[in-house]
Amino acid sequence: MSRVYNFSAGPAVLPEEVLKKAAAEMLDYNGCGMSINEMSHRSKTFDSVIQTAEQDIRDLMNIPDNYKVLFLQGGASQQFAAVPLNLMKNGKAAYIITGQWAKKAYQEAQKYGEAIEVASSADKTFSYIPDCSDLDIPEDSDYVYICENNTIYGTKFKTLPNTKGHILVSDVSSCFLSEPVDVTKYGVIYGGVQKNVGPAGLVISIIREDLITDDVPSYTPTMLKWKTQADNGSLYNTPNCWSIYMCGLVFKWLKEQGGLEEMKKRNEAKAKVLYDYLDQSKMFKGTVRKEDRSLMNVPFVTDSEELNAKFIAEATKAGFVSLKGHRTVGGMRASIYNAMPIEGVQKLVEFMDKFEKENG
Ligand code: PMP
Repeated sequence: MSRVYNFSAGPAVLPEEVLKKAAAEMLDYNGCGMSINEMSHRSKTFDSVIQTAEQDIRDLMNIPDNYKVLFLQGGASQQFAAVPLNLMKNGKAAYIITGQWAKKAYQEAQKYGEAIEVASSADKTFSYIPDCSDLDIPEDSDYVYICENNTIYGTKFKTLPNTKGHILVSDVSSCFLSEPVDVTKYGVIYGGVQKNVGPAGLVISIIREDLITDDVPSYTPTMLKWKTQADNGSLYNTPNCWSIYMCGLVFKWLKEQGGLEEMKKRNEAKAKVLYDYLDQSKMFKGTVRKEDRSLMNVPFVTDSEELNAKFIAEATKAGFVSLKGHRTVGGMRASIYNAMPIEGVQKLVEFMDKFEKENG
């Protein structure tokens, strides 16, 4: 068996220990004589899986008791609709547009109310995070929305926006569990798990209790009403049992590794290896303003499309896969989530250096 170094933006690399444990439990989970994929979501065994997963993510993120943790389907994109449906009481919300995912959320919100763009970095191809210290946020906005880590462009909010007292809603899909967060600063934190946490098809929404109400538009689909899900412990219908189980294994793995403080340290060390190399390279250049660089997604380019293509082809052959940038931006992107070991990044940099010498 040979595993590659997988730099995919998502679905993405998972910890090898977790994959091995899941493989070992595939035919017989915990003496049940069947796998998680084959058992009732109403069984005692699955109840213990989801309860343990919830407790572990609560421990990892230090989630206060007045926040609910919901395990939902439909991916992060489904929450683009759920957020306005559940939160727009005045029919107005402020959106900070730092990339395509924020823009998609903003466009979706426009279907349900007045979504107002209060800041944007579109003028420079989303290569920076705008100053959000004193935005013109309408007084009656129901919330302020951000995409905290921009997967495609490789930017990250290092300081949260000044919401001027409004509820902050954050899509953390591509920085989920990569470092400690102060949950109390948010009304809603949500993320698709398929980047930093587990298999695709699950979105985890962490929502302050008082924001989960029956006061939603009458046309709100039952499944998109957070209260439906909260009242039923994320088991209103059949959930994504497999992904919940796998995320649970990843939570245990994260705890064993030392939790989110340790992840932050490792992620900073990993990103430094790559950014330090990019900063001195004459061939490869990072595309993001330095102070806004993501620890998770690192986009870079050469000055020629041909060289980009040659690099990606040779890297793939050498076992460094999924380095192609997002289809809308081109170039390269290395996603270096929690499960990417530092050796993967060091070896990538060695490979880039060799490529530079051979092709410079
Ligand atoms: N938000 C961000 C930041 C993302 O990176 C992505 C997926 N690439 C999404 C939302 C959409 O996620 P999903 O495919 O789970 O709907």
